[in-house]
Amino acid sequence: MQRRAVLFDLDDTLVDHRHAARAAMAGVRGRFPAFARIPLDVLDAEHQRILDLLHHEVAIGARSVDDARIDRYRRLFAFAGADGESAAAAAELHRREYQANRRTVEGAVDLLAALRPQVRIAVVTNNTLAEQSEKLAAFGLSPFVDTLVTSGELGVAKPDGRIFAEALRRVGCDAEEAVMVGDSWVHDVEGARAAGIAAVWLNRTGAVHADRGETRQLTALTPAHEVAAMLVAGGR
Ligand SMILES: [Mg+2]
Repeated sequence: MQRRAVLFDLDDTLVDHRHAARAAMAGVRGRFPAFARIPLDVLDAEHQRILDLLHHEVAIGARSVDDARIDRYRRLFAFAGADGESAAAAAELHRREYQANRRTVEGAVDLLAALRPQVRIAVVTNNTLAEQSEKLAAFGLSPFVDTLVTSGELGVAKPDGRIFAEALRRVGCDAEEAVMVGDSWVHDVEGARAAGIAAVWLNRTGAVHADRGETRQLTALTPAHEVAAMLVAGGR
């Protein structure tokens, strides 16, 4: 059976969040002495940990992006043993550096272009509608995407089955006619499966997962036509 819809996660699946976040952290580290004495890897990991901690509230629209950004830096300054009076300035620099270093995951545009004539395409993502639609537009992805389903709009986030159900409703498919592609084991793979949707794990970092079992895995979105063919063909 051929798939009729492919659902994609956005951050670190189509758009390279980790690359931009690390570059932003390097920029901030170079500007603020409190951070300069901490290795970039350590700082970057702690920043990502705090981001993940605070992200759910932003993703469901319970907290503003700007507010969470500053809080994140207050916590990062505390981690560095410094007071947080520069948190707003550091957060603003991070935002600018992040924007300047954004890029798609290699092959993302080609893959969407290869899939577009064959299936409906949904992006299913935990963030606000404004942030995510801006990303789709900025990278020229919008013309390939039939629908953008955000946790911000729905008030529930992956892995909650309701966000996947809404995506299926919008693309007009049953669960078994769709496949979900994403980098997060919990949000994308387990979330989709719980909703009855086959999942393909995008594992670009060579991570090992104890429960991977028979789960199909991609280590890259290239070559586009091969990946597209694999996604469109059925199979769990
Ligand atoms: Mg992701």
